[in-house]
Amino acid sequence: MHEFSLADELIRSVERLAAHHPGTIRSVELQIGALTAVNQEALQTAFAVLRDGTRLAVCELLCRALPVVVACTSCGQQGEPEDSLLLRCPACGSGRVEVTSGRQLDIVRISLEDASADAQDR
Ligand SMILES: [Zn+2]
Repeated sequence: MHEFSLADELIRSVERLAAHHPGTIRSVELQIGALTAVNQEALQTAFAVLRDGTRLAVCELLCRALPVVVACTSCGQQGEPEDSLLLRCPACGSGRVEVTSGRQLDIVRISLEDASADAQDR
């Protein structure tokens, strides 16, 4: 299942990114473009299963869906196509468009809770 390998890869990436930062990983924010065809529900399920035993054991996965945006090579307009399967310029209807957004699958934020900093506050 695609989402399982994706969740596995995500957990490894976050562990790598947070390797030099002690503390509890509270949440990870992910941007998912509409063209990636990732099922968010399946990803959440896979993440909940795979995070056990990792540094992300109590981490929450926050997903932000990004719409498809195309840039038209005919008229120069940018915008969201009406149909995300049949990509056409929303302004002139040309099919000669380039996808500028919608294929992303990026970690945008990792929230860490530093246990030692927390203790100093009290
Ligand atoms: Zn156009």
